Amino acid sequence: MPTAPPSRCTDPECSELATKRGRCDKHQPIPWAGRDDKASRYGISSGTWRKLKRRITARDNGCCYRCGADQADTGPDDDPFVLDHIVPIAEGGSPTDLDNLGLLCPDCDQVKSRAEAIRGMHRARGRRR
Ligand SMILES: [Zn+2]
Ligand SMILES: [Zn+2]
Repeated sequence: MPTAPPSRCTDPECSELATKRGRCDKHQPIPWAGRDDKASRYGISSGTWRKLKRRITARDNGCCYRCGADQADTGPDDDPFVLDHIVPIAEGGSPTDLDNLGLLCPDCDQVKSRAEAIRGMHRARGRRR
């Protein structure tokens, strides 16, 4: 009995056959993809984002730019730090300018994201008036 016909990878620029979850091996969703949402939101490929993160990690010695926490203290295998836009894109920051990129520890990321969300809400409210 023949199995279901193979379908194409759902990645728009890919013509490979899907292997799992509607995608080819190359385009499998990555477990930590959630951390890359800042990148995908602004059309930066996750490969570019990872490269940028590596550069910033080297530049800043793996330290959080807000509180100075050292990524090395959390262990090299666990990589909880996120690459962050110091001036949010929504507030006019550049998406790929190295001067606008910095590492954030998970705590600072949470605090900063929340503050940005609140500012975003105020902006939306201000526009309505
Ligand atoms: Zn693919
Ligand atoms: Zn921090």
